[in-house]
Amino acid sequence: MREIAAMTRQIVERAKNYQLDSVPGDYATLSAPCPKCGGVVQENYKRFACTKCDFSITKIPGARQLEVAEAEQLLREGTIGPLQGFRSRLGRPFAAILKLTAEHKLEFDFGQEGGDGAAEPVDFGDQQPVGRCPKCGAGVYEHGMSYVCEKSVGPARSCDFRSGKIILQQEVTREQMSKLLAEGRTDLLPGFVSSRTRRGFKAFLVRGADGKIGFEFEPRPARAPKGAAAAAPAAQATAGEPASPPAKKAVAKKAAPAKGAASKAPARAPASPRARGARAASKKAVVVRTAVAKAATTKTSVAKTAATKTGASKTAAPRKRATGKAAAAKSSTARGSRTPKA
Ligand SMILES: [Zn+2]
Ligand SMILES: [Zn+2]
Repeated sequence: MREIAAMTRQIVERAKNYQLDSVPGDYATLSAPCPKCGGVVQENYKRFACTKCDFSITKIPGARQLEVAEAEQLLREGTIGPLQGFRSRLGRPFAAILKLTAEHKLEFDFGQEGGDGAAEPVDFGDQQPVGRCPKCGAGVYEHGMSYVCEKSVGPARSCDFRSGKIILQQEVTREQMSKLLAEGRTDLLPGFVSSRTRRGFKAFLVRGADGKIGFEFEPRPARAPKGAAAAAPAAQATAGEPASPPAKKAVAKKAAPAKGAASKAPARAPASPRARGARAASKKAVVVRTAVAKAATTKTSVAKTAATKTGASKTAAPRKRATGKAAAAKSSTARGSRTPKA
């Protein structure tokens, strides 16, 4: 009996100490200090919480798991993103910047205030311009969720050029935006996902004569089955939703089977030209296909990431996700949609 009592005391003692200086289970201790009191922040079941004060933030903002490294960056810098893979209550994917308010609360930032209606001049610091504005020739810089013309922000705006860093779940890396501004088009980007049909599609982003950014689709070798029924839905699917208008050359079929990762999946098969009109069939495959498209994106982005990460986008480094669920985006590189509807 005495032994049991002793053992119990020991266990209780140990448990108490755990709270102070050990990590029970697999929970991490963050390397970044509490932004409020400087104390140690630890992960627990649902939150990252300070061990000294009442500071804590959820681990799954917007139904997306916040990785330890992301949380650390958030605490250190007060902001992180844009990150992809958040889900609204209605299940719509979205991308956002996470930031801590002055009161140390976690908040989504959709990058609006910086551009529209901002009274204060924006300081781009020592940022190198991504390229020249296609509308006015001034410098284009990374700013929140977008690439913006330096003349499109601040109190004295004379230009309105801006283009999302994430468009329909496709991340537009700094390198690609740079290429778009310099050469008029990006590489073929494989990870767009129609927010209306949830289908993935590939497209180039191109600079229009008016300086606006639009889509251009991959020319297809076999153009034979280009019936009205085939072309219409494809054009439609992209028309309403891109942040920018689709290109006039919307000849392509967005359901074109993707190369690489995506094409290996059987779910891709129904996307053959013949099946394109068949709503029922596609509906069934939508989920799978979306997943596939995402996988493809992730894969590509991972490769790309290594090569192109710079500055603010370093947050996009691929990382493993513990939950397959939050996962619209397997990695934060497969980031959300352009529709920030929380
Ligand atoms: Zn604290
Ligand atoms: Zn401009």
